[in-house]
Amino acid sequence: MNAIDAAELRRRTRDLLAAHPPADTEPADFLKARFDAGLAWVHFPAGLGGLDAPRSLQSVVDAELAASGAPDNDPRRIGIGLGMAAPTILGFGTDEQKRRFLRPLWVGDEVWCQLFSEPGAGSDLAALGTRAVREGGSGANGEGGDWIVNGQKVWTSSAHLARWAILIARTDPALPKHRGITYFICDMTAPGVDVRPLRQITGEAEFNEVFLTDVRIPDAHRLGAVGDGWKVARTTLMNERVSIGGARLPREGGMIGPVSRTWRERPELRTHQLHQRLLALWVEAEVARLTGERLRQQLAVGRPGPEGSGLKLSFARLNQEISGLEVELLGDEGLLYDDWTMRRPELVDFTGREAGYRYLRSKGNSIEGGTSEVLLNIVAERVLGLPAEPRDDKDVAWKDLAR
Ligand SMILES: Cc1cc2nc3c(=O)[nH]c(=O)nc-3n(C[C@H](O)[C@H](O)[C@H](O)COP(=O)(O)OP(=O)(O)OC[C@H]3O[C@@H](n4cnc5c(N)ncnc54)[C@H](O)[C@@H]3O)c2cc1C
Repeated sequence: MNAIDAAELRRRTRDLLAAHPPADTEPADFLKARFDAGLAWVHFPAGLGGLDAPRSLQSVVDAELAASGAPDNDPRRIGIGLGMAAPTILGFGTDEQKRRFLRPLWVGDEVWCQLFSEPGAGSDLAALGTRAVREGGSGANGEGGDWIVNGQKVWTSSAHLARWAILIARTDPALPKHRGITYFICDMTAPGVDVRPLRQITGEAEFNEVFLTDVRIPDAHRLGAVGDGWKVARTTLMNERVSIGGARLPREGGMIGPVSRTWRERPELRTHQLHQRLLALWVEAEVARLTGERLRQQLAVGRPGPEGSGLKLSFARLNQEISGLEVELLGDEGLLYDDWTMRRPELVDFTGREAGYRYLRSKGNSIEGGTSEVLLNIVAERVLGLPAEPRDDKDVAWKDLAR
């Protein structure tokens, strides 16, 4: 095979477009052909949607396809699969798991959700109590058989749409909390999976409670070694922060966009004091956007690091400040709310609705994917090298911890 450089990728992208002209091809068929041509995520291995090419060259493919009007998948609908499940499966999955799951995930045929948080395990996720007990199994390490899972998860975004879930569960309560966890892929259509909507402050039910009662997961759907689940989960969590805080945006593509447009189009709403605040937030939003771009370039040559936590922090703070300013700018109009219907949305679209929605939805930004307080701890410890929080549960069996 020729070395994969920008010119080679451009050539392959043009071959794809010639063989599957977007105007005459069903969007789903185009996406499948794109995956099979290795042009989905070019840094993934050949045969799994990539070509082992440098990650930084993805932009060459994306630009060619965008210019030709080719359809793309919708990261807002399949964000958990793309941003969290895929890098974890790539890092820890067996060849069979990679072949089975990555293509339908990237194409969007199969939506994923994340069964991590529990009523008693959010920020302290490693305290989780959902149990997985092995039944059957043979071989030196007891491979094979099924795992029987019981427990409750909460805040599970998109569980009502999901075909598959990434799940962490406790497999050895006699070990300290970080060591007795194992990582699984859970079939959301399996008997015993009960998904119940949770209505949130916006009126919508984006997320759910999920009750797991005697859910059977084949050992072939374990991701990583038994007891290694925390290590696997850390890969997911690092990728989660990057994907929440670091989505690629054009200038004014985030929440700063609608408020800037209102400012330009409605001079009667302007005041000097709001002007100063808007300008300061506009600059900060642009700095955050460019920082995200730099982080993506760093990712192209390595793995996501704690910088993603910093970006997610500023994304949450800015969204809350900008949406608050937008409500103030609009005055009485800002207090109106467009739609209180209880819905279970397929997409979370921060900018597509009214100011009131943005204001309420942005409250969740400092909680989802790790709270801002906990991310500040991570930045303090891993970026600034400050002493870690005191921990008295490090060497204590999970079953002996106070709950
Ligand atoms: C919109 C949304 C979508 C979500 N989607 C998912 C999903 O799809 N899947 C999933 O598994 N989870 C999901 N979550 C859950 C989310 O990850 C948790 O809510 C989050 O990790 C916080 O956990 P908690 O709610 O249990 O709060 P707690 O951990 O109980 O925290 C309560 C408060 O204490 C603070 N606190 C806790 N520990 C510390 C500490 N060490 N230092 C300083 N302050 C601390 C927190 O910052 C917070 O202010 C979602 C949440 C939201 C809001």
